[in-house]
Amino acid sequence: MLKQLFPTDYIPSIFDLNISELKRHHIKGLIFDIDNTLVPFDVAHPDDKIIHFFEELKSNGFKVCLVSNNTEERVIKFNEKLKLFAIHKASKPKSRSFKKAMELMNTDKDNTVVIGDQIFTDVWGGNKAGIKTILVVPVSERDEWVTKIKRGLERIVIKIYERQRKKVK
Ligand SMILES: [Mg+2]
Repeated sequence: MLKQLFPTDYIPSIFDLNISELKRHHIKGLIFDIDNTLVPFDVAHPDDKIIHFFEELKSNGFKVCLVSNNTEERVIKFNEKLKLFAIHKASKPKSRSFKKAMELMNTDKDNTVVIGDQIFTDVWGGNKAGIKTILVVPVSERDEWVTKIKRGLERIVIKIYERQRKKVK
């Protein structure tokens, strides 16, 4: 059961994604969470660094889809400049939106990765959909209250995950 909450990998930030490693694993589609994965939840627009980051992914041939539990307004505004595939009110950890994202990108569970900051939405949801997951450290300590509640439990899961990962390495 606990394994369903473990990510495939855990990295400090989206900028630590290893593009050549993703290519080596034949990854073609990348699903990104928005809030606290790309920007703090209360920041409306991506900055130049984020815009450039997605341009680089696209020029490397990756398909990208934003999958957020946040509102239509939030997601549309954030995606204005990026012009990526995007799904709002995703109801993560339900796997429905991840499947929809793969349909949009024309990828499948074996060549897609979910990248997000939350164990109980991004990682659990991705795992349930059979997709590889990469957990990132939240970009900000500011959280919406619903998220705040989950962070304590999350820390426990991450501790166990890291202990097991050390054993394997
Ligand atoms: Mg998030």
